[in-house]
Amino acid sequence: MSLKSALKKLKGFVRSRSIHVTVVNTGGCNGCDIEILACYTYRYDLEQYGIYYHNNPRKSDVLIVTGPVTYQWRDKLVKLYHKVPEPKAVVAVGTCACSGGIFNQRGGRVCGPVREVIPVDAEVPGCPPRPEEIVSAVVDVLPALFRSWEFRRGGAREAQEA
Ligand code: SF4
Repeated sequence: MSLKSALKKLKGFVRSRSIHVTVVNTGGCNGCDIEILACYTYRYDLEQYGIYYHNNPRKSDVLIVTGPVTYQWRDKLVKLYHKVPEPKAVVAVGTCACSGGIFNQRGGRVCGPVREVIPVDAEVPGCPPRPEEIVSAVVDVLPALFRSWEFRRGGAREAQEA
């Protein structure tokens, strides 16, 4: 293994063990937010997996989005997304974030689901999803995503240069 490749691997390893998240509610009922907070209680303890609640987008790696994205939230969500530095990931939590939920119907005034406003890496459906489901999705997806980030980006860059 070359030095460059070894350093990439080390960087990915470290990055996958220190993930900071910002949670944003784009117009949901707060049910999903309560379940996300429960993930940080002693019972589920998401921090044991190296996933920390930070809530400063400029210092975060992940945006966890709840809610159906109301018209008022669309531009703010895009701005928040751009404030998160690369590499970054987005997780949509709850049926509202995944499909617009009960608000996504005539007269609902929403422009979700979230994936139609910003790129989404993982979705956790449920109204609201249980903390076990959120923890399981986040722990399955995020470390793997950040562990392979350098290689994925390196591969994309090499493909562009070819
Ligand atoms: S998915 Fe259900 S619990 Fe979550 S914000 Fe929407 S209505 Fe509320």
